[in-house]
Amino acid sequence: MNSDALRDLFSLPVAMVSGLWLLTACGPSTQSDEPSPSVAEQSASTTDAPIALVIHGGAGTITREAMTPEREAEIRAALQLALEAGYAELSAGGSSMDAIIQAINVMEDAPQFNAGRGAVLNHEGVVELDASIMDGATLQAGAIAGASTLDGGIRYPILAARAVMEHSPHVMLSGQGAEEFAESQGLEFIDADWFITDFRFEQWQGMQQANLLEDPSPWYSTVGAVALDQMGNLAAGTSTGGMTNKRFGRIGDSPIIGAGTYADNESCAVSATGHGEFFIRHVVAYDICARMRYQGLTLTEAADQVVNEVLVEAGGAGGVIAMDSQGEIAMPFNTEGMYRGSIDTNGQMTIAIYGDEGQSN
Ligand code: ASP
Repeated sequence: MNSDALRDLFSLPVAMVSGLWLLTACGPSTQSDEPSPSVAEQSASTTDAPIALVIHGGAGTITREAMTPEREAEIRAALQLALEAGYAELSAGGSSMDAIIQAINVMEDAPQFNAGRGAVLNHEGVVELDASIMDGATLQAGAIAGASTLDGGIRYPILAARAVMEHSPHVMLSGQGAEEFAESQGLEFIDADWFITDFRFEQWQGMQQANLLEDPSPWYSTVGAVALDQMGNLAAGTSTGGMTNKRFGRIGDSPIIGAGTYADNESCAVSATGHGEFFIRHVVAYDICARMRYQGLTLTEAADQVVNEVLVEAGGAGGVIAMDSQGEIAMPFNTEGMYRGSIDTNGQMTIAIYGDEGQSN
């Protein structure tokens, strides 16, 4: 689906109110006291069952000082397109799985994020892709790890993760095995150059010249989405190029079920972004769901404990997006900012970047 088509889906004006972007049906009427029909009220939702969508485009040292107005506008627009694409699926009665795929595909195509086009380069200057997906109704899951783009790569890694889940007996395929499987499934491949943006090349070059193994001010920029559909099913997915200048073959948390992605209708759905090694060690996505199940915590409590206590104590920078089976949303992060957006069960769209903006949970 192209950008024009997406914009047509919701021909609603966007107003910026107190740092939040709200879709309204009455134009940029930020002064109006009249309640505006929400996205949900405008859409073709076929039941009263709650639907909701939340996305992220990465966390990190994202400050206003380090941002240009142009880049900020591009990022907000890309997040909005991703939300609209996913929500169109949900409001037409589609599955949470299809909704997160729609949202993530938009972000994989957007050069602003570290997934698909715009993914970071490894130490050798090559883009290697990781992605995973999980169905909260069945606990089926699929992932690809370390898929190289050197001779052309998988355009939409999240589709490859879904293909592993649906068309193989396995949960994860890596490297050449993942690439060959994606090819056998008829997935689109695209030239190596398509993935590499000037921004990522310069970022990588800077680290190479300074001989740095770790980015001193990382903007992780992995993408992810979680959704609740009309059938009451949760799904989660995450797609990334990993970390800039990573060692060839390094795999982060994003393709690891339980670390970077998890979904279970009995508790919650989670997609993570941040310093992957910490998210793997602390099994972050699963730990949030487990705290809900075993300790009876709310989504907000569980996500906040893991991100702002466990990870902070360990020194693990990053954040998560999470949703429970009622469509409650949590978006905690322990970094300066996190690219994030949601459409809640009332149909209200929120897009935010910085820590002092919008709700983080
Ligand atoms: N978590 C990812 C990784 O470690 C990086 C990111 O979130 O951008 O590979």
